[in-house]
Order: sequence, then C-alpha cells, then structure tokens
Amino acid sequence: MARTVHVIGAGLAGLSAAMRLAQGSENVILHEASSQAGGRCRSYHDATLGMMIDNGNHVILSGNRSALSYLDIIEATDRMHGPHEADFNFIDLATDERWQLRLGDGLLPWWIFSDARRVPNTRACDYLVLARLMWRPGEGTVGEAIPCSGALYERLIEPILLATLNNEPPAASARLAATLMRETLGSGGRTCRPLIAQEGLSAAFVDPALAYLKAHGATVHFGHELHSIGFKEGRAERLDFGSETIALAPEDVVIFAVPPNVAARLLPGLQTPNEFRAIANVHFRVDGNVTLPAMTGVVHGLTQWIFTYPGRLSVTISAADALMQLPRDELARRVWGEVAKIAGLPEHLPPWQVVRERRATIATDPRQEALRPPAQTAWDNLFLAGDWTATGLPPTIESAIRSGERAARLA
Ligand SMILES: Cc1cc2nc3c(=O)[nH]c(=O)nc-3n(C[C@H](O)[C@H](O)[C@H](O)COP(=O)(O)OP(=O)(O)OC[C@H]3O[C@@H](n4cnc5c(N)ncnc54)[C@H](O)[C@@H]3O)c2cc1C
Repeated sequence: MARTVHVIGAGLAGLSAAMRLAQGSENVILHEASSQAGGRCRSYHDATLGMMIDNGNHVILSGNRSALSYLDIIEATDRMHGPHEADFNFIDLATDERWQLRLGDGLLPWWIFSDARRVPNTRACDYLVLARLMWRPGEGTVGEAIPCSGALYERLIEPILLATLNNEPPAASARLAATLMRETLGSGGRTCRPLIAQEGLSAAFVDPALAYLKAHGATVHFGHELHSIGFKEGRAERLDFGSETIALAPEDVVIFAVPPNVAARLLPGLQTPNEFRAIANVHFRVDGNVTLPAMTGVVHGLTQWIFTYPGRLSVTISAADALMQLPRDELARRVWGEVAKIAGLPEHLPPWQVVRERRATIATDPRQEALRPPAQTAWDNLFLAGDWTATGLPPTIESAIRSGERAARLA
C-alpha cells in the first residue's frame, strides 16, 4: 500500500506541497484547522460591502516561477491579470505629479537612460545604488547598504521594498532586498509584469487547487487542528487532533505548513522568527466608472497602493503596525480622503471595510532572517514549509509555494 503524507495547514505552502505529492502515487491527507483553505491568501463574502473581497490585495510578478508553475498545474493561469508590459503607475501626493515607470521587455535596463521612462527628478547615475544593493548588499540592513533618502528612494525603492518585504526598508535585510531586486528589476521587465487575481484570490489560488487535489485522490479535512505530535526515536509517530489521534506508520511523512508561532509551539526546540509586521487593507464600494489603472503606487501618502476591481477600490498599507490602534472609521476616512483626490471621486465616504492582519508576515530584518529554519528538522519524517522558512525569498506567495515544492521533494 502507498505510504501516507500528512500535510498540516492548507495555506498556499500546504496546498503546494499536497498538490505536488498528489501528482505521484502518495496517499495525501491535508489537515486544516479552519473551515477554509488559503490561510493568509483567501477570499470571503463581506456583508458590509455586499460582495466577495480578499483578506488583502496580493500581487505576484511574471517572474515568480514557482507561483506560475503552481497556477499552470491547477489550470488557473488565466485567473491572473496584468498589463502586457511591466508598466507601473505612480502618483506623488506631495506634488500631484503622475508618471508611468515603463521597464520594457529587455534584460538591459534601457529605461534608466530615458527621461520619459525613468522616475521623474532622477538621473541615470542615481540608479547605481540599485546595482550596489543587488550585488554588494552585505549582511546588515538596507539602511546600511544604501542611502534611504532622495527622489529615487522615495519614488521607487521605498514603495517596492515596503510592498515586498513588509518592513520599513531602512531596517530590512539588505540580503533579502538584494535577492528580490535581482529576481525582479535585475532580471528585466519580462519578469516584472504585475499580476493580480481580479476575480479573487480563492478563485485563482485556492479553489482550483482543492479541485485538483480532489481529482487526484487527496483528502482534505477542515476544522482539523493539530494539537500535538508524539515523537519516538527521531521520528514523528503520532498526530493528535483532539477528537482523533492518528498513528503514523514507519514510512509515513508529515509536512508542517503552519505559521511560525504554531510550529514553534508544536515542535520542541525549533527556532522560528518571532516578530511580525502588519498589513492594513481598506476596501471601498464604488458605483460607476473609475478611471484609475488596475494598480497605482502612491508616494507621500498614508495610502501606498490603490487597486481597482469591479465595483471596488482597495488600498494596501504595508508595515502598518502603527495603524493597528487607529479607530477603523478614522483610518477609512483618512484613506478615502487621499483616494477620492487621486481618482477624482466625491469626498463623501462610500461603504467601506477595514481588514487589518496583525501578523501578515514575519519581520524581514537581519535578526529575524537568521531565525528562518530549513525544511529539514530534527525528525527524519517531518519537514517544514511556509513563507517564513529559509527560502531566501521575502515572505510572499512565491516563497510559500516554493517552500511547499521543496518540502514535497524532500518528502
Ligand atoms: C494582507 C496581506 C497581503 C499580502 N500581500 C501579498 C502580496 O501582494 N504578494 C505576495 O506574494 N504575498 C503577499 N502576502 C503574503 C502571502 O499571503 C503569504 O506569504 C502566504 O499566503 C503564506 O502562505 P503559507 O501557506 O506559508 O501560510 P498561511 O497562509 O499562514 O497558512 C498556514 C495555514 O495553517 C493553518 N493552521 C494553523 N495552525 C494549524 C494547526 N494546528 N493545524 C492545522 N492547520 C493549522 C492555518 O489556518 C492556515 O490555513 C500578503 C499577506 C497578507 C496577510
């Protein structure tokens, strides 16, 4: 009989691992504590707005090879939408300037030498700091590697790093920023096209994955929270779900795809990152036409990125820990003040929803980076997955999916 692989946690890391294993002859069982798959990347019906929304706006890039391969396998590539070229629209609220950064398709960054295509008020030579960050980041912070001021920093480097590292850039790991920059800006425009799940995250990343797992004979248990694990002779031998205990056969394997705080609680002696950063999303129901592009970067505002969806505008604010205590209606009003000005919409506050994820991602400073563990553990038949494990990438969809691939390979 085929051995059984138990995957704990049905976020993208767990789904990715389960999907890869279900392709073979493994007997795959996915255990999820909540009633829904997707973890930090999911859709739900919001009663206030009267529509489906995502817990937060998520962007992947056309160079995210693991995420795209995942979408290809579950036949959901067409659920992601983006421009044909790597074009990014920005507005500076301090000066009201608007511009489009057009990276073009080539590997070489010709855009840097074009007044019309590079960031306004920057010179070609300013961009040398990007090369320094990419190729000589050092072991410290971004603030130690490059100057964190000036037009190029405020209008390009800060918005990109804030969104992808979810950390105040000066304190973030320079090495992580370098990897990110090399895999995006440094690899040419073809790898930087932003892709958004316009019909929702679950419709793109979660529902097709669950359908794929079902079609390949995997079992998914919702409301099945792992409470503890029994270990014997260097192996996991028992999974305790409270109402049910599963004894593991000698050949069975466990993939642990839960958040770091849960992993640290259930796996004795495991060191994990233990500081987190928040992300706030503010959604507004809007009727009628909105002329904004699918995604707009905002400089010198509380708002960082605005996304347009059918009937909805949605704002993302990363590294938003300082906003966690702000009354929800005040946050909505302040953000709408900026959005209405940018989009040329009435000042009157439309129906809104604030979604604040306190533990959106791990902090990405050098100290936390050093705490990210590899997939292998002290136990022969137990492997880790999750965006927070040592993938060398920022804690993103790409990291989660790549970690799932890696754990499946090891299993
Ligand atoms: C608001 C927000 C915006 C983001 N924006 C972006 C973006 O633009 N681009 C991008 O690439 N990434 C973005 N991210 C990050 C991205 O969502 C995560 O990197 C990814 O979803 C992490 O997946 P994961 O599977 O590693 O973890 P999780 O999604 O946390 O999955 C862990 C799963 O384990 C389950 N679980 C926990 N404990 C147990 C237990 N004891 N037993 C069983 N199951 C358990 C949980 O319920 C959960 O389903 C964003 C995140 C947030 C919150």
